[in-house]
Amino acid sequence: MSDCIFCKIINGEIPSKKVLENDKFYAFHDIEPVKKVHVLIVPKNHVSNIAHLNENNEDYVEGLLPFVRDVAKELGISKDGYRLIFNTGKKAGQTVFHMHAHLLGGEEMGWPEA
Ligand code: AMP
Repeated sequence: MSDCIFCKIINGEIPSKKVLENDKFYAFHDIEPVKKVHVLIVPKNHVSNIAHLNENNEDYVEGLLPFVRDVAKELGISKDGYRLIFNTGKKAGQTVFHMHAHLLGGEEMGWPEA
């Protein structure tokens, strides 16, 4: 989508600190990290969020979890543990409407978070 900031990051129009990519997904460091490690993982094909997945675009997210695993390995946080969050919709705090997972780690995290 032409006015989508994450589409622009994926196609290189906006710079990002890349962690890993494959043919379907792109992982890059969040510009305003909330944990020591805060990486965003996005499908390269635009879909606004999980609620908009349907039979026409479900394949966009196939292989997402193995990619998350590989990103965590690349970041060196596999053994320590990490958290994956999908803010889905305005009420849940989603501000960028290109589906993304927040991969958080690198420090101790409580649950539920205070
Ligand atoms: P959400 O609020 O779940 O939609 O998350 C959007 C995330 O995108 C926030 O954590 C922002 O800090 C992050 N973000 C926005 N613009 C950029 C950018 N240009 N590069 C990296 N991260 C960004």
